[in-house]
Amino acid sequence: MGRDVTLAALAEQKVQELAHTDSLTGLPNRNRFLGKLGAMLARSRRREGSFAVCFIDLDGFKSINDSLGHDAGDELLRQMALRLRGALRETDLIARLGGDEFVALIEETSGVAHLARVGQKMLDTIGASLQLQGSDYLVTGSLGIAQYPLDGEDAATLLKQADSAMYQAKDRGKNNLQFYTAELATESARLSALEAELRMALQRDELTLYYQPKIDLASGRLCGVEALVRWLHPERGLVPPVDCVGLAEERGLSEPLGRWVPRLPASSCATGSPPGLPTVPVAVNLSARQVGSDSLVNDVQQALPEFDLAATDLEVELTESALMTDPKHAGDVLHQVAAMGVALSIDDFGTGYSSLSYLKRFPARLVKIDRAFVDGLPDDGDDLAITRAVIAMAHSLKLTVVAEGVETQAQLQVLRQLGCDQVQGYLLGRPMPTSELDGQLLALATPG
Ligand code: C2E
Ligand code: CA
Ligand code: CA
Repeated sequence: MGRDVTLAALAEQKVQELAHTDSLTGLPNRNRFLGKLGAMLARSRRREGSFAVCFIDLDGFKSINDSLGHDAGDELLRQMALRLRGALRETDLIARLGGDEFVALIEETSGVAHLARVGQKMLDTIGASLQLQGSDYLVTGSLGIAQYPLDGEDAATLLKQADSAMYQAKDRGKNNLQFYTAELATESARLSALEAELRMALQRDELTLYYQPKIDLASGRLCGVEALVRWLHPERGLVPPVDCVGLAEERGLSEPLGRWVPRLPASSCATGSPPGLPTVPVAVNLSARQVGSDSLVNDVQQALPEFDLAATDLEVELTESALMTDPKHAGDVLHQVAAMGVALSIDDFGTGYSSLSYLKRFPARLVKIDRAFVDGLPDDGDDLAITRAVIAMAHSLKLTVVAEGVETQAQLQVLRQLGCDQVQGYLLGRPMPTSELDGQLLALATPG
């Protein structure tokens, strides 16, 4: 009898344990976390103590999971769980809420500086290089911190504030931590409203593309255009892409946005509208997420015949950081895209990894020197040296060099002297709607 009771108690304990443990990582799960949070609240109220809730979300987890498969995704989560556990004190709790979301309960905090140190430690441990299937990966995280009693006095409020601070960290470029503040909350509310509207805009086709001319320096003629997304908001006017593209990425809207983007230029520009106009290649910006998804090759393959478009009329622009998120997958995908005849252009060159020889593993045909360097021309010695070096290096690798953000004659002059191939910028033409672009194409047909 006594033994049965013990067995029942053990079974009960086992069930409790299972119900409170995340089977994948062995960390406490959401139930356990909520229980601990309740207990912590009660204790802190009695003793007038303080503690903090920290939301942790991995950046770009989905793309790794999609490209390497679920086993690798699981392995990544297990490794991250171990690392996070190791970065905290025994008395702090770290739990997995689900997906790539973790939460830490940090006890007896001695203020913001202490929390910032703990947070940074977690960011560092997440960001250390990671081996998956024999290759190295860099994963980062975004953290949001809410403090008791400063930011909330009950569980629901604290969780909400930590979550909104985490979204702020995402919106501010990821790989950083944010403390909850009332201003952040307003910003977060603004973004949520914008997100809802962006969903509507996608349904209602309120997004459009503007095209910015690229000029061949030797001939002075239009040699291509870059498609840049524009959202004509009924009240806010033109919403800049940094707001809407970034938001779309973060809130899982980039798929619909991304699929839509390569189609429009294809239909309205490269094929020439009205018919009879000459065509120039259209460069389309792709995000890290689009390259990470498995549908890119398919999307491009379908878009080409649908719009009666030659592959050579399409260019894709990718930043170094987008390529480096998952270099192996990006390499595979881009080689397939390049095999169709589509050109790859490395965008914002100089702001990221900046090794052309490394980037050679991607089938690039063009390099765009970032506006930051063009800005300093011709007077800034560093910018001049960098621009000269990039052009020399790119040419030795048989890459075409485009300078972006050219605003003055003096810049144009220097770029010509340095042997830059193509230029793009307000001096040569701002991003414009198709109606205006037709004029440029027409000029191309009638040289003079
Ligand atoms: P980006 O690809 O580097 O695009 C160039 C940006 O520089 C554009 O800003 C363009 O309007 C601006 N620009 C061009 N010439 C000049 C100049 O002479 N001076 C100055 N000050 N600015 C110049 P925009 O259109 O606001 O786009 C910002 C970024 O948003 C783009 O940077 C690109 O990364 C992203 N983006 C735009 N459209 C798309 C899209 O369809 N898909 C994706 N994934 N990203 C997009
Ligand atoms: Ca671009
Ligand atoms: Ca650029």
